[in-house]
Formats: sequence, structure tokens, C-alpha cells
Amino acid sequence: MNSELLRQYLTYFQDLGIRTLYRRSPAAPQPKEASPAALFPEAVESGPQALFGEAAPAEAAETLEQIRADMGGCTRCRLHQGRTQIVFGDGNPNARLVFVGEGPGADEDAQGLPFVGRAGQLLTQMIENTARREGISLTRSQVYICNVVKCRPPGNRTPEPDEIETCSPFLFRQLAAIRPKAICLLGATAARALLGAREGVTKLRGRWFRWRDIPVMVTYHPSYLLRPYNQNAKREAWEDLKKVLHYVYD
Ligand code: SF4
Repeated sequence: MNSELLRQYLTYFQDLGIRTLYRRSPAAPQPKEASPAALFPEAVESGPQALFGEAAPAEAAETLEQIRADMGGCTRCRLHQGRTQIVFGDGNPNARLVFVGEGPGADEDAQGLPFVGRAGQLLTQMIENTARREGISLTRSQVYICNVVKCRPPGNRTPEPDEIETCSPFLFRQLAAIRPKAICLLGATAARALLGAREGVTKLRGRWFRWRDIPVMVTYHPSYLLRPYNQNAKREAWEDLKKVLHYVYD
């Protein structure tokens, strides 16, 4: 393995929160070496495939409980200063579908749960009503919901890039632990954190991307859909959700 490939492997394991690597015993069967192309696939866009994305994870290394325990009373970024409590995530730890938003708001900060305010109620309705209309049996409790940053940004501002960078390894580890069939990113912050995308949601929505080996759909954040002049976006978000639900549950 050349040094650049080794560096990429180590960065990847670091993202997963793995700090210690052991050499395999010589007697153990040796894994096939992945090519750099497999680690960082080229952009392809047709169906749930890669446009942005990283390596396919070898295995889920830890549980959500272990990740939460490792987070502890985290003070790794300045967002800890204004929070009431950490909002780690909520839902089925074996979910086939994970929704990722931006960060907790006032209600979430008070209750310690993601998406429980007005935007959260809309998200719940969107998930459950769309599923029902499409003939899919699904409740909110069957999916997993979390955010890019786990502490409320002051005044509900957008998280700063350094805050996203500091907190997102926890998100990566959550996703690696759950290993869902698909991920639905709600808004531009989640798209930037997971896909490195710089485009706005209107450019990204409705298309399949990939994070590691998991298909990813980007759509609008529910708080954006609550604004009265965004009726078109509401319709588009329902369309995006239909695509994701059929992909995951058909
Ligand atoms: Fe820690 Fe994330 Fe909270 Fe920052 S936002 S203090 S990294 S848990």
C-alpha cells in the first residue's frame, strides 16, 4: 500500500472515531486491498449512486450508546456554551432510513430531542402522511433522526464551519453504527457536512448521491417549508420523500 492510500485509510478510520489500529497476525487471511478509486469514487448520477462521497465502511465499529458515552458532556466546540443539553438523536437504532437536519432549536434544546418543534411536527407529518398515501406502513419511531451539530447554535444561527467540522465525526459514527439503507439530508448544512456540497438545496434536491456506500437524498429543511411563500418547495419535498420511501421500503 502506498503512503497516500495509507493516509486516506487512516483519515477514514479517524472519521469513524477509531483511534487504535492493530496489525493482523500473519496467519490470518489477508483482505483484498481496496483501490483509491473504490475509496473515493468518481461522480456518477443515475439512481442511488455516487456524486459526492467517501469510502465504503468496512463495518460498524460501535453502538449508538458507545458513541453517546464517548461524547459525554462534550465541550469540543463553542456551541456547548449556550446549550441546555446535548441533542444526540432519536429513533430506531436499526432504522433503514435516517434523517439528518442542521442543529437543535429552542424546543429541541429544552427537551433533548431532535425535531420536536413546529418544523419537527411538519417532518413527522411528512414522513407518516407520505408513507400512508404511498401504501407504506411507517411511523416516525421507525426511522432515526439527528442533526449535524448536537448543541443549539445561539439564536438558531447556522453552525459555523469549524463547529460543523468538530461535531460531524459524531454524526459519521452514528451513521456508521446504524448503517441505514438510505439517508435523507434536510437542508444545505446537512448536504455540506455529509457530501461536501457547495450548491444550494434547490440544485441538489431530488437527486441521488452517496455517502460512503449509502444512498443519500437531499431535500428542503422543514423549517424552510413552514414559510408561507414556499409552496412549490413543499410539493418538491413531498416528491423527494416519496422517492426515498419507495427506495427504502418497497
Ligand atoms: Fe460537542 Fe458537538 Fe456540542 Fe460542539 S456541537 S459541543 S462538538 S456535541
